[in-house]
Amino acid sequence: MYQILMISSLYIVFKLCDWIIDEVREWKVKRNILSNPILRYEYYKGSYTIRKMKKLKRMPYNQYLKTYHWELARSAVLKRDENQCADCGKSKDESLEVHHVTYIRRGKENLEDLMTLCKDCHQERHFISTAFE
Ligand SMILES: [Zn+2]
Ligand SMILES: [Zn+2]
Repeated sequence: MYQILMISSLYIVFKLCDWIIDEVREWKVKRNILSNPILRYEYYKGSYTIRKMKKLKRMPYNQYLKTYHWELARSAVLKRDENQCADCGKSKDESLEVHHVTYIRRGKENLEDLMTLCKDCHQERHFISTAFE
């Protein structure tokens, strides 16, 4: 009787350790994802509902730029482009802006849809694109 009790309590202790190890492993994976802006953006984007994506697509653009989604997308793009303007290479943080190459996937942009530009190059891009419209 005593032995059975010993064995079953040992079993419970082992199971508990297993569970803790699993939890810690999962927590570490999640921490890694959340500390990297690119992974963090993909992680959050993967959890969006269709409703949320529709809402993001339809809201006024100035409001869109204030969403948490845009904040995440923006920091992912800045990270990918190493905080440098894609056109001239300038790396002054305050003047960097994130430009939409295409608005097709607004609300669930792929990182290729976005690029980092300094204020001047950004204005130039928009000037060129409106000039040809
Ligand atoms: Zn530039
Ligand atoms: Zn732009």
